[in-house]
Amino acid sequence: MATTVAGLSSAEAGDATLRTALEQFHRAADHLKLPDKHREILTSFKTVYETEFPVELDDGSFRVFKGYRVHHNSARGPVKGGIRYAPMVSLGEVKALAMWMTWKCAVVDVPFGGAKGGVIVDPHSVSRAELQNLTRRFTSEIAPIIGPDRDIPAPDLGTNPQVMAWMMDTYSIQRGYTVPGVVTGKPVAIGGSEGRFEATGRGIMYVLAEHLRESGGLAGRRVAVHGFGNVGGVTAKLLTQGGAIVEYVCDRDIGLYRKGGLDTFSAYAHVQQGNALATWTGEAERVAPEDVLYADVDVLVPAALENTITAANASRVRAPLIIEGANGPLTTEADDILAERGVTVIPDILANAGGVTVSYFEWVQSRDFQRWREDDVNAQLQRYMVDAYRGVAGRCVVGADRCNLREAAQWIGIERVIEATELRGIFP
Ligand code: NAD
Repeated sequence: MATTVAGLSSAEAGDATLRTALEQFHRAADHLKLPDKHREILTSFKTVYETEFPVELDDGSFRVFKGYRVHHNSARGPVKGGIRYAPMVSLGEVKALAMWMTWKCAVVDVPFGGAKGGVIVDPHSVSRAELQNLTRRFTSEIAPIIGPDRDIPAPDLGTNPQVMAWMMDTYSIQRGYTVPGVVTGKPVAIGGSEGRFEATGRGIMYVLAEHLRESGGLAGRRVAVHGFGNVGGVTAKLLTQGGAIVEYVCDRDIGLYRKGGLDTFSAYAHVQQGNALATWTGEAERVAPEDVLYADVDVLVPAALENTITAANASRVRAPLIIEGANGPLTTEADDILAERGVTVIPDILANAGGVTVSYFEWVQSRDFQRWREDDVNAQLQRYMVDAYRGVAGRCVVGADRCNLREAAQWIGIERVIEATELRGIFP
């Protein structure tokens, strides 16, 4: 059975993640004095789909895999959220991530509700052909509940544009015509959006730059990035481009440190070519991956997994500013410990919303067979992210007795979902 770094089983870790999502919700609900009706509606899940399905392996044998697709809330539109392939996937984790997607879409004000899905598999342990078989079979299993007007999957941990291409193709074959709007994060050649691959990291960069705008901007800020995949790698690269000094990066196997800054462009290019970060030969000292969390830097970007900073290690974090690249990297207890010490946290549902924002742009393009230029996509993304940041930061200042950016983002997200719920009414 897969276990976390802290020794939790998948189910325990998933339950911990769901607990964090629910605790955050109830704190916000208490502040907003939500009636029981809204608490009940917003903590329930519209659709919970669990499936076990066989996949033929290269040697002719087969293995049964388990997968999930959860729709949290669709008051604001079709539901949207990634599909993750990881050994630690569990129902609790998928539910928490679906709920965060609901708030995230509302915070950046894109017309979607929240969803998430996943398959329990280590994508590195299967061949490309097996991964394709698994993806096509899982897509067939969830086909009744996805669709461009209903639920639009996207990449997440362990999945990528190729996996989205297989999903789109499988769904389209079943319909008898090409349906590019059924997934986002597709390769550009088959209807993906320019700028989608880098959108989450780029959004993090825009939000951080806006947060630091009045105190000197990104230039010269020393940064540590934990996780070096799509989110962490792109963030490290774009922050370097923006003038920050990325001194620490890591993946699950190795951490790297260089005083004065790493060559993040070269390191990320190496990883994107399919190589391990550990085989990158650029100038760097080797450190343990978790040391990156405790680095003496100006900004920490946890961009790997949820539950990374907990009550057990929050006191070791030295950065005065954390911007959450991953979903749910801090537990509620860690949040409290860090708040007590005056550490600022820019929350996931704001910071990493660039991915879903450009997914929205991709969905619009796919439905109308349009193609936007990358600079137009990035300019729109910047506008959405800066507007969302200002809305959240402004809410923090206006009249709140005790408020941090996470709370303000939660309040805004929840209020927008409630507004949609009230306007639509409850049928019948
Ligand atoms: P990815 O699979 O591309 O990369 C994950 C990275 O984390 C890899 O470098 C991996 O080695 C590293 N990692 C895994 N376990 C680790 C550990 N114990 N210690 C240190 N590093 C570890 O995934 P991604 O798409 O970059 O997603 C990362 C996080 O960001 C997830 O929480 C995901 O839900 C969230 N997210 C992703 C997107 C997106 O557009 N991809 C958008 C919003 C949020």
